[in-house]
Amino acid sequence: MNIALIAHDSKKELMVQFCIAYCGILSRHDLCATGTTGKLVAEATGLKIQRFLSGSQGGDQQIAARMSCNEIDILIYFRDPININHQEPNETHLLRLCDVHNIPVATNIATAEALIHALERGDLDWREIVKD
Ligand code: PGA
Repeated sequence: MNIALIAHDSKKELMVQFCIAYCGILSRHDLCATGTTGKLVAEATGLKIQRFLSGSQGGDQQIAARMSCNEIDILIYFRDPININHQEPNETHLLRLCDVHNIPVATNIATAEALIHALERGDLDWREIVKD
């Protein structure tokens, strides 16, 4: 499965901790991320991650393009719902694409954990079938 990771600045440490906790599962999948998120996770976990541009440089749009082409199976997007930083990607576009393409998405740790367990159980294998 192709898993995309994005975290706003205040959520990057949470993303790192999440990826450390589930490193074993994540290592069996193809990961991509916006620039800084990917760098921090790769440094902390040793996971191989395809890094796109930083969110402020359009990295989220690179991920959006892949979502549109059905190349992303899961989006984990830890956003800051309290402090809006206009340098950071606006999630509305990405969340809309998740709904258009039926891509499972988590915007907080509780849902991310539920998704990762579902992934491990094989509950999301239908994505591979849909792609064929
Ligand atoms: P980054 O992009 O991982 O490059 O920081 C995401 C963001 O800007 O929130």
